[in-house]
Amino acid sequence: MPQESLEGVDVTMCGIFGYIGKRNVVKACTEGLSLLEYRGYDSAGIAGVVEGKIALRKRAGKVADLCEVLDLVHLDFAIAHTRWATHGVVNECNAHPHLDSSESFALIHNGIIENYATLKQEMQERGVSFLSETDTEVLVQLIAAEYCGDLAAAVDRVAKRLKGVFSFLVIHKDHQEIVGFANGCPLSVGVNEDEVILSSDPNTFLGQSFRVLFLDPQETVRVRRGSVEIFDPGMKQKEKRTLVMESILKPPSKGSFPHFMLKEIYEQPEACKRALEGRLGSNGVFFQNLLLSEESLRDSDVVWTVGSGTSFLAGMVGGLFLEEWASLPSLCEIASEAQYRTTFFSSKTMMVAISQSGETADTLAALRKAKCDGYKTLALCNTEHSAMAREADGVLFLKAGPEVSVCSTKAFTSQLILLALFSLHMSALRKRLGEEEILLLGKSLEQLPQMMQTVLDRVDQIAALAKKYARYDDFFFMGRRYMYPTALEAALKLKEISYVNANGYPAGELKHGPIALLDRNFPVIAFCANEKTREKMISNLMEVKARGAPLLAIAPERMKEVEKIADDILWIPDSSDPLAPFPSIVAGQLFAYEIAKARGCPIDQPRNLAKSVTVE
Ligand code: GLU
Repeated sequence: MPQESLEGVDVTMCGIFGYIGKRNVVKACTEGLSLLEYRGYDSAGIAGVVEGKIALRKRAGKVADLCEVLDLVHLDFAIAHTRWATHGVVNECNAHPHLDSSESFALIHNGIIENYATLKQEMQERGVSFLSETDTEVLVQLIAAEYCGDLAAAVDRVAKRLKGVFSFLVIHKDHQEIVGFANGCPLSVGVNEDEVILSSDPNTFLGQSFRVLFLDPQETVRVRRGSVEIFDPGMKQKEKRTLVMESILKPPSKGSFPHFMLKEIYEQPEACKRALEGRLGSNGVFFQNLLLSEESLRDSDVVWTVGSGTSFLAGMVGGLFLEEWASLPSLCEIASEAQYRTTFFSSKTMMVAISQSGETADTLAALRKAKCDGYKTLALCNTEHSAMAREADGVLFLKAGPEVSVCSTKAFTSQLILLALFSLHMSALRKRLGEEEILLLGKSLEQLPQMMQTVLDRVDQIAALAKKYARYDDFFFMGRRYMYPTALEAALKLKEISYVNANGYPAGELKHGPIALLDRNFPVIAFCANEKTREKMISNLMEVKARGAPLLAIAPERMKEVEKIADDILWIPDSSDPLAPFPSIVAGQLFAYEIAKARGCPIDQPRNLAKSVTVE
C-alpha cells in the first residue's frame, strides 16, 4: 500500500459524516462537522442509535448553533450533516438527518436526486406523507419501503431507481452499522484499530493514521465496528485498494489573523513560492508526475480551460498565457456550460479542468464528459485525493495548503502560477519561444512573491480607500486584456463577501450599454496595469470621469498620467503585462476584504455560499 501524507491537502458543499468507534460518538461527530462546515453551513444535525432507538437533533444555522442545543451524551454510533440547501428553504424541518415515517431509519445526503418529484408522487400515492420539502426525505422513505431485514440490500435496490449526482449515509435502529452509497459525490472511508469514519472529505481524519478508501460511482459501503465491505450494484462484494494516510496536520487555524481570508491573502507570497518550487530549472519547466506524455502534450492543438467562479477566471488568464507564450488557441468556458457544447473540437483538444477542491461538481461533470468524448484532460487542483485528481489523465497540484475561507484568494494566484508554468512548458514543447526566453520568463515568475508582498505592505492605504468606498452599493470593475479577468475576479471577491452589486466588464465594453448606469453614486474601479492597452485604458478612464462617477484606479507606478484623471489611485509595482494580474488581484482582494469589514459582513462564511460546490 502506498504511503501518502495529508500535508498540503486542502480542505474543500454539504458535508456528510458517519462514526463508529471508541471515541465519544457525539463529540467525534461535532468535531467532524466543524471540519466539514466549509461545505455548507445552512443547518446541521446528528442522528444516532441509543438503546435500540434513533435519537435525532438538528438545527437551522451553523454547527456551533447545533452544539448549543445538543443534549445527547451517548450514542452507539451516528451520522451527522452540515447542509447547503438545494431543495427546500433553510429551516429545521429541511435540515438533515431525515427519518422515515416509522422513525426506524435516519439518512443524510449530499447532492441532488433529480427524479425525486416522480418518486415522491409515487410514494404519496402509496399513502406515505412527507414532512420536509427536500429530495432527501424521498430517499429515506424509499429505503424504508424496500427494507426486508438487510439495510445494504435495500440501499442497493433503491439506488437503481435514482438519477443525479449524490452520496448518502443511512442507519437503522436495529443494526449496528452505517450504510453509504455514492454516485459522483465524494465519500471516503477511514479505518484504524479504534474507529471507522465515513466522510465527504478525508480532512476529517486528521490527527490519526487511517487506511482510507474512496467510493467510486455506484458503490455501496457497509461499515460495522472493525469491518468495511464494498459492493457493486447487485450486492456483488469487491475488494478495494486503500491508502495509508499519516496525518501530521492539526485542523487549520487563523493564527493571529481575525479571518481565514486575511490570513490566506497574506500567505500568497509563500504559496506562490511553493507552486514554483522544484518546477523551474536550468532546462526550463519541469513537472513531476504530470502523467501526460510530452508527445501527447505537444500534439494538442486547442486548450479548453474550464472552471467555476474564481477557477474559471484563472482559466481566462491562463488562456492568455497560452496564446502569448505557446501560440496555442484556447477556449475558456464556465464549467456548468461546458457539458452542453456539441463535439466540434478535434481529438487533439486538451481540457484543463481547474478546481481548488478538485470536487466542484460542475467542473467534474465537464471533465467526465470531455473524457467520454475522447479529449485529453489535465486537472489543476489543490487537493491530492480529490475526484478530479483521480480521474483526469494528468494532474498538477497547487500546493497552496488548506484554503478555508469560502472566498478564494491564494488558490487563485497559485492557479495562475501553475498556468503560467504550464504555458511555458507547452511553449518549449511546441518550440515557440526560445530556450533563453523561456528561462527569463521563468525567472521573472520568481519575482512575484516580492511584488505581492509590496502590495500587502500597502494595506493601510487600501483600508483607508475601502472605508471611503464602503458606502456605495453598486460598482463597476473594468480592465483590458490581462486586466479584464483580473477585474472580474476582484468584482467577484467584493460581491461574495460584501453583498454589494459589483460587475466586471472589459473596459471597452462599458460604452456599449453599462455606462448608462453611471452617476456620482456608482464608482468604477479600474485595473490599469496592461501596457499594451495603456492609451485605450486612459480613454476609458476619461469616459467614466465625464459621467461624474467616482473613479479608483489600480495602476502601476509608471502610469503617472492616471493622476490627472482618477479620484483615487492605488499604486502597484510595475511589471510585464502577463505578470500584472498578481499584484493587481492582491490589491483587489484586500480592497474587498476591507469593504466587507467596514460593512460588518461575516467574511469567512458569507450567506448562501459554500467553499466547495458539490452539486451541479
Ligand atoms: N439536496 C439536499 C438538500 O437540499 C442536499 C443538498 C446538499 O448537498 O447539501 O437538503
